[in-house]
Order: sequence, then structure tokens, then C-alpha cells
Amino acid sequence: MTAEMETKARHEATKAERRMARLYPKEDIAAARDWIRGALYAGVKSEISHLSMSEWAEKKRSLPPGLSPIPGPWRWSNAPYLKEIADCLSSTSPVQQVFVMKGAQVGFTVGILENWIGYTIDEDPGPMMFVSADADVAEESVELRVDRMIESAGLMPKIFSQSKQGNGKKTGDTKKKKEFPGGFLLAVGPNSGGKLRSFSIQKLLEDEMDAFPQQIGGADGTTKRAAEGDPHTILRRRLDAYEMTSKNLGGSTPLVEQTSRIKKLFDAGDQRRYFVPCKHCGAMQPLEWRDKATGAYRMIYDKDEAGNLIWSSVRYECAVCGKPWKNEDKAWFLPRGEWRPTAVASQPNYRSYHLPALLSPVWARSWESICQEWIAATEDQGRLRAFINTVLGEPFQESGEAPRYEKIMLRREDWSAEAVRFDEAGHLMEMVPAVIPDTAKVITIGADVQKDRIECEVVAWGEGKESWSIGYHVLPGETADISSPAWRQFAEILSMPHGGLPISLALIDSHYQTPTVYSFSEGYELGVMPCMGESHTIRSAKVFKIQDVAGYLCRRADIYTDVLKIEIYQAIAKSVPDSGMVPVGYCHFPGDRPESYFRMLVAEERVSERTRTGQTRYVWKKPEGRRNEALDCRVYALAALYIVASEVAPVDEHGAVSWADFWQYMNTI
Ligand SMILES: [Zn+2]
Repeated sequence: MTAEMETKARHEATKAERRMARLYPKEDIAAARDWIRGALYAGVKSEISHLSMSEWAEKKRSLPPGLSPIPGPWRWSNAPYLKEIADCLSSTSPVQQVFVMKGAQVGFTVGILENWIGYTIDEDPGPMMFVSADADVAEESVELRVDRMIESAGLMPKIFSQSKQGNGKKTGDTKKKKEFPGGFLLAVGPNSGGKLRSFSIQKLLEDEMDAFPQQIGGADGTTKRAAEGDPHTILRRRLDAYEMTSKNLGGSTPLVEQTSRIKKLFDAGDQRRYFVPCKHCGAMQPLEWRDKATGAYRMIYDKDEAGNLIWSSVRYECAVCGKPWKNEDKAWFLPRGEWRPTAVASQPNYRSYHLPALLSPVWARSWESICQEWIAATEDQGRLRAFINTVLGEPFQESGEAPRYEKIMLRREDWSAEAVRFDEAGHLMEMVPAVIPDTAKVITIGADVQKDRIECEVVAWGEGKESWSIGYHVLPGETADISSPAWRQFAEILSMPHGGLPISLALIDSHYQTPTVYSFSEGYELGVMPCMGESHTIRSAKVFKIQDVAGYLCRRADIYTDVLKIEIYQAIAKSVPDSGMVPVGYCHFPGDRPESYFRMLVAEERVSERTRTGQTRYVWKKPEGRRNEALDCRVYALAALYIVASEVAPVDEHGAVSWADFWQYMNTI
């Protein structure tokens, strides 16, 4: 068959399918489809495509050395769980919608995304649209990945302009568009669904769906178009002409629970999980970080005295017999696994798959490195979020609910805060220190400047970000005047030891009385810095940025208060379990701390808001008239700890601090 005949036959088949489908009542539509595939494709289609996608990949696909940890011919045994997903995309499969909620390093891009494009060009041609986070990302993927796949699978001769006018190679082979006999591949951004009304496509491939905008069009200032709605829904309209044979594959690492698109699409499907056998008792089970029912950790590890992971201790405990599995056992149990639906899909021929990085093959991501990432994540909000998204393949649940202040008050302890007394000019008259355990190693201060007073909290920090609120001081005086008693008192607090330790860093909010705060900070070479809070949500692990201040000698810390407030709310909600083991981030409060303090500490709530463009965003709100200086002070004190730690310990490319290294260092000095 020539390419032209193929296309024609294919077109006829599609038309016939649609005619036949209309003969059946709606509820029998799946039966109609099966009948059509059986009867019609037995004759026509079998000549068009002989191979399933998994067969095609093993026959044609080869991974070039140097670009893959497993160079050579493609083998599904490299990542056995991908085979079933691949075959949903075979021309003979009745499955039409496949959504994969996934972690990183599970082989999805190479094994599913690239293979589907190759299979489409070579074996099952049709018009295809490839959509990624934005048009640039989609085009870059074509340049970096698809071109190499085309090259290594020997598909180059098939890529050329299919129109008589554009006979040259050039027009049919760009990073936006690949033309091939019987079809084309278009690489676009998620906004293109509305613009490309004239295009009918049979195959829709959507990658990184959680990075798509919530809505496209509308009054966002960049376009005059009316709001058009959800980009995924709009893109799917391009499939209408191929109602019976269309295929839609979507994949993404989920981001935030409340807004995750892939999570919604996963929930609407049959929610397949990969069940693998226990080598001891044979029980089939999906790999889980924690047991869903009991909350017990399935992945177990031990740490040495310095708090480092003992590599050889990492093991997975069978949910049934409790015996350990090791990372290298993946080579045995992954090929013996199977996908099992755990729900009924909301539509026929709709499948959804959950692909956590715990399944990552032996040659890719190990359980040991995952445990190491977890240990770092337990101390760092940004890293925790990344861990849940990219390792567990689950959306992060942002809880903005304020903990109840009564509950936190109940945990006040049997020690007293430091007490200070000043004369009228602001000179220190008396200081009674707080007595805190010697596991506290670092002192930071967060200060909030109001018109008639400075409020500040003195916090002691120990390993695991365990903290002691050793003083909360309200220093009265006109703050516009640098020589006022308020600043005099604050200077005294900065110069005295707290809990026997000097201050490592004090951050002073400079939103208000900015020039005065800068002038005051200039007087200190080290240990004092103005700060400005920024409230927008960020996706990296970085919580601050330090920059020069024009006209002053001091530098200013811009801090991302959103992330820090979430961390603080999670930390203060923690209580000490019966075992007596203090949880990471636990906050100690003195017995003489008044109720008004705790009310201020939990004054804000994190609430969701719809923006004008229809996006959901989260903002911190405090009820009218409620004071929140205690929360602000704690935010600055915590930001100060991050800054101190990042000066001492290594910081990775995402801006995340290695807390283990920091505490190890602090314990040695
Ligand atoms: Zn077992």
C-alpha cells in the first residue's frame, strides 16, 4: 500500500466508524466501537498497522549511547510497568484516554511519549498534536528528544513536506512541525487549542499538564479574547472529527492538590496501581511510602549517630508478612507485577495510572537515594513538596488552616522566658536569662516595627529545627527616631547573650520606617539585616534572596513569607507523642507566655481566591483588627535561620540547604 492509499483507507474507516456509531444507542457506544474494530479493522486496518506499540518499540527503537543509562535496543523489561500503558496507544486498543500521574525518573518520556510519536510516524500515522507546559518547552522537546528518536529509529526518510507547494524538506521538518505520510506532528503550547480551530487531530499528547494555565483567554491584559476555559477541554475539541479512533495521552507530575489537573483526570479514570509480589509470601501489593490505613511507613531506614542515612539499612516492609525487600529485588518483582484498576472509570475506554518513583527501575532511581531525599525533606518545606510531587507522584496538600491557639497553649512547658527591664531612656537595668537545653545551638531574632513600638522574638534552634521561644519583647517608643528608647532597647537585646549564646542573625522588617531600619542596620557589620516579605508562591526551595540597598551600607533579605508561614503552622501544630521522641520542627514555649501571644501567632488563615483570569491562588488573610506581630516575628526568625544555615552548609541548585550538614557543623563547634 502506498502512503496515499493508507491515508485514504484510514479516512474511510474513520467515516464508517462514525456512521456505525450513530446506529447504536449511547450506552452501547463501547460495544459499537468493539464491533467496528473487530469487523472493519480486520480487513482494512490490519493492512495499515501490524504492530502494537510495544512490538514496534522493541523492533525499531534504539537508545543512543551517552544519552541514556540503558543504551541499545529498547526492551520493556527495562521498565516493565510501561508496557501496558504503551499498548493502550496501539492502533488496535479500544482505549481512547490515558492519564498518567507520575513521579520523576520513571521512564515515561522515553518509553511512552517518544515511543508514541515514533509509532505514529512509522506505524499508525495520523494528525497528532504535542502540547507541553508552553510552546517553547514543546518545541525544545522536539529539538532535543523527538529529533534524536526519529534519527535513531531510522525514521528520517519519512519526514518531509507532504504538500505539492512545499516540496522541500525544510517546510515539513521544523521544530514546530514534522510532516510524514498520512499525518503530521504539531508541537504547541496549551493556549493553542482555541487558535487552531481549523485543525482536526486524531492524537493528542499532553505533557506536564499541571503546568498548563487554569484558564486561557480572558481579561489577563495580554489578549482581548473572552475567557475560553480550561485548555485541556479546549484541546480535546480538536479530536471531535475522530470521535471513534481518537487517542488522548496526558502525563504530569502533580503539583498542588487543590489545583492539580492530572489528579482530577486520574481520579476520573480507573485509577490503576502497579501491584508487585512479595518475594517472601507472594502477596501482591502496590508500593506505598506509607500505609494508607495505618499511616505506618512501608519504607524503612536507620540513621547513624551523625544523623546520616545508613545506606545498607534501607528496606521496604511487605504489607502482609512484614519481611524486608531490597532495592535490587526490583529486578525480580517488577517483571512479575501487573496493573490493577482500583476504581470504576467515569467514561468507557478511559484509563488512569499512578506511577511513583518507588517503581523506578534498578538502573534509574534507588530507594536509598529516595530515603536520603526524604531525610532532607523532613526539615524543609520546599523540599518536602518536591519529594511528594516527584517521588511519590502525588499532589502536595497545602493546608492553610490555622492551628487552634488553645491547643498550642496547653503545651507550654515548665520553664520561664528571659526577662528584661529598661530605664526610661532604654538602657538595660536587669536581665534574667532563660535556661534552655544545650541541644540549642543557634539564636536568631525576628523583629517587627510598628509606629510606637518594636516587637521581637528571640528563638533558639537545635537539630531538626527544634525551637525554643526564649523571649518575646515589646519595646515601646517612637520608631521613626533612631535615638528613641525603642531602638536603644533593641540594641541592648542584640548585644546580650540569650540562653548563654550570642545572636547569629536578627532580621528587622523594613516595610515600615524603612530609612530608620536601614540606618540602624548599617551600624552593625554582621548579625543584623533589614528584611522585606514577599508573599507570592515560589516553586523552588529558596526562601530568601539577599541584595544590596542603594544608598546604604547594609544588605537586605527579601524573604518568601508564604512558604515560611506554612512551615511554621505545620511545626506549631505538632505535639510530642507518647514515645517521647520529639518530632522534627517541634516548638517549645515557656510556661509564662500569655494567651495574647498565641492568639497573634495563629492570627492568619490561608484561603483560596479566584483571580480575574479564573486561576486559583492562595493568600494569607488576617481577620480585621486582629494582631499578628508574633507570627511575623517568627517568620523573620525562621528566615534568619535559613540565611545562617546557607552561609555554613552546602546549598543545592534549587536553593535548598543541606540541614544535616549544617547541624553536624554546629554540633562540632
Ligand atoms: Zn510478604
